[in-house]
Amino acid sequence: MIKYKLVCKNCELKFDSWFASSNEYERLKKRKLLNCHNCNSTKIQKTIMAPQLINNKSKTIEKINLAKYQSVKKTIMNYQKFIKDNFKYVGENFVYEARSIHYDGKKKIKGIYGSVSKDDLKELKDEGINAQIIPWIDENEN
Ligand SMILES: [Zn+2]
Repeated sequence: MIKYKLVCKNCELKFDSWFASSNEYERLKKRKLLNCHNCNSTKIQKTIMAPQLINNKSKTIEKINLAKYQSVKKTIMNYQKFIKDNFKYVGENFVYEARSIHYDGKKKIKGIYGSVSKDDLKELKDEGINAQIIPWIDENEN
């Protein structure tokens, strides 16, 4: 958004107006869509004063964060897809399944994924079972 100080050449009224861009100002002026609030003249000009840009830092940061989040989310979703395609879902049975793979030597079955608590994960690690927690996004979440 750009704010211009405009002046009416007819009645010399000065007023501020916001435009999406300097191009928009030119376009409106060309089409005589800029007119004076006071005398309705279309002889409107920008005053020499430099246009002010809205410096809305927080909005920019929000946008950046959103973009970052979207990109991280995309990475996680791709990761999830990979896991779903290559690993077997065992849900709440994760600890049991992990142990049975480890102790029964079912090394050849594909990897598993499921729910595990941090405590259980620690126990598995203590037993020498390699498991990892990864961020998981519920697909129903928007
Ligand atoms: Zn005027």
